[in-house]
Amino acid sequence: MSEVIRRAVVAGGAGFLGSHLCDQLIELDYHVTCVDNFTSGRVANISHLLGDKRFDLIQADICSPLPSMEVDEVWNLACPASPPRYQIDPVQTMMTSVLGTKNLLDLARANKARFFQASTSEVYGDPEQHPQPEHYTGSVNTIGPRACYDEGKRAAESLCFDYLRTYNVDIRVVRIFNTYGPRMDPEDGRVVSNFIVKALKGEPLELYGSGDQTRSFCYVDDLIAGFLRLMHSDGCHGPVNIGNPGEFTVKQLAEIVVDKLGSKSEIVCVPATMDDPKQRKPDITLARDRLQWEPLIPLSEGLDMTANYFAEEVARMAPAAIS
Ligand code: NAD
Ligand code: UDP
Repeated sequence: MSEVIRRAVVAGGAGFLGSHLCDQLIELDYHVTCVDNFTSGRVANISHLLGDKRFDLIQADICSPLPSMEVDEVWNLACPASPPRYQIDPVQTMMTSVLGTKNLLDLARANKARFFQASTSEVYGDPEQHPQPEHYTGSVNTIGPRACYDEGKRAAESLCFDYLRTYNVDIRVVRIFNTYGPRMDPEDGRVVSNFIVKALKGEPLELYGSGDQTRSFCYVDDLIAGFLRLMHSDGCHGPVNIGNPGEFTVKQLAEIVVDKLGSKSEIVCVPATMDDPKQRKPDITLARDRLQWEPLIPLSEGLDMTANYFAEEVARMAPAAIS
């Protein structure tokens, strides 16, 4: 009897999280088609997969209808995730979440495939409830500079549940909290990458505002394990929070990074950005109960692995005369 090959489409597969997901799916012997327009993704993230016969790359924007193909699982991770990046072209960011998600849902519907949506803790906006459970409906400024991302992701969730109710597409929606690890783009402006890169270079670490705002940081391997649990669970559509409930102020994170790297960098305050959420911590009761998932890698250990990766990236980026 011939072996059944499972076929996955990973939109955004050349990005930070998408490339780790592609690795895991190949490890599980899937055939993976990565669809990416490389606006925030990098060929370097997937170059090790390019010669693998189980891996295909389609360079395309998900805002345009996708070529028809046979697929068992559609994973939608396409969307820039870093605030400076998603604000470069806010209209494109919103369209990626709305039109792009619709195009991928249509692909799943045509194939009776399972559909995974990478949603975000940003749907909670600047939350008044802390920690945030999935039933908290959020506090988002619909007209601020973050709205293209937050409201786009909220609309995408809404589309997913309408495709479930209307067309019976088997959707899985995850709300991701800040995740870090190897393959983050050193230049995309997120806090973990900014702080580690600046500490390695001996440049000042900048706290946007007082640095008292909090975030909860999840190591990428834990997150991808949670994705697979949700996608392969028995009928859990979500939304499900996946994140590490350990909560740190941004100032604490800066101090940990400087201390860990033995860096001489100063920590300085610069003006806050608009609509920056003051606190963020996932309630992961649902993930524990329904998926038997919880994060295993503490921040200190994850930062060590991430710092090793960034040390290599910084050395590679440095001009030959300095290195
Ligand atoms: P990333 O920017 O590294 O990856 C996003 C990928 O999507 C990139 O490869 C980019 O080129 C691609 N892309 C963007 N727009 C596209 C389009 N229109 N068509 C095709 N490809 C497109 O970001 P990431 O951190 O890997 O995030 C992946 C997903 O997870 C995103 O949907 C993001 O919103 C979500 N998420 C991430 C985090 C996090 O902490 N990393 C937190 C919450 C949600
Ligand atoms: N931040 C900061 N300095 C930086 C980058 C980010 O103080 O160099 C802050 C940012 O204002 C936010 C937090 O760190 O409060 C997390 O920022 P990130 O962009 O990583 O993620 P998000 O705002 O989407 O949670």
